[in-house]
Amino acid sequence: MLLGALTDLLFPRACMGCGKPAREAARYFCWDCLSRLDVIRPPFCRLCGDPVDGAAEGDFLCSECLSHAPAFDQARSAARYRGVLQTTLQDFKYHGATWLSRDFGMLLLACFQTHYSALAIDTILYVPLFPAKERDRSFNQAGLLAHALSTQLRGLPVKQRLVKLQPTQTQTHLTAVKRRANVHGTFSITDKSAIAGQRILLIDDVMTTGATVNECARMLKQAGAEAVFVLTVARG
Ligand SMILES: [Zn+2]
Ligand SMILES: [Zn+2]
Repeated sequence: MLLGALTDLLFPRACMGCGKPAREAARYFCWDCLSRLDVIRPPFCRLCGDPVDGAAEGDFLCSECLSHAPAFDQARSAARYRGVLQTTLQDFKYHGATWLSRDFGMLLLACFQTHYSALAIDTILYVPLFPAKERDRSFNQAGLLAHALSTQLRGLPVKQRLVKLQPTQTQTHLTAVKRRANVHGTFSITDKSAIAGQRILLIDDVMTTGATVNECARMLKQAGAEAVFVLTVARG
């Protein structure tokens, strides 16, 4: 701690977004970059949290949720997957910038406090990687985020029970229908008795169509989870 403070004094951190000196409270993001994040504000879908451009009255469901009711109870994300958030999440995930997990954990905390603070949650889980992929990357970004949030929430435990059984092709260029098919049956639960009756907070870095978190939620509900609330840093 002291050494960290001394290091900061001698070598001020550069903002990961713009390279200017970052302020201590924000660690790896300067206030300018934080204030430029495209934070998700209403109106958004009551279930999946997907924001809509333009006006929408009060409680509404998006067309995707109306045609395919999600397995999770709600999903919320801190900000849009654009600009600085997109480039830094890519640095985090693909270039090993794991030191960003605390900053992203603070975004998750702010989003949790905005949308989920009134909920009773028993445990935090996260979207697993296929083991060979996790070995290659040497970490699971969603796991780092889950632990960062757990630290911020002082006591809500991370008890991972999800595993990925097979690798999936990258979802980036797939349609919503193909994404659902791509992830179907790829996750499993290691200990169903630990999931039964639990109210779960499920963490991932980015949610796009929601196919991945939805498939995890489907398995968790099948194992008897009482509720699954999804929380991600970014929304594609
Ligand atoms: Zn900056
Ligand atoms: Zn929706």
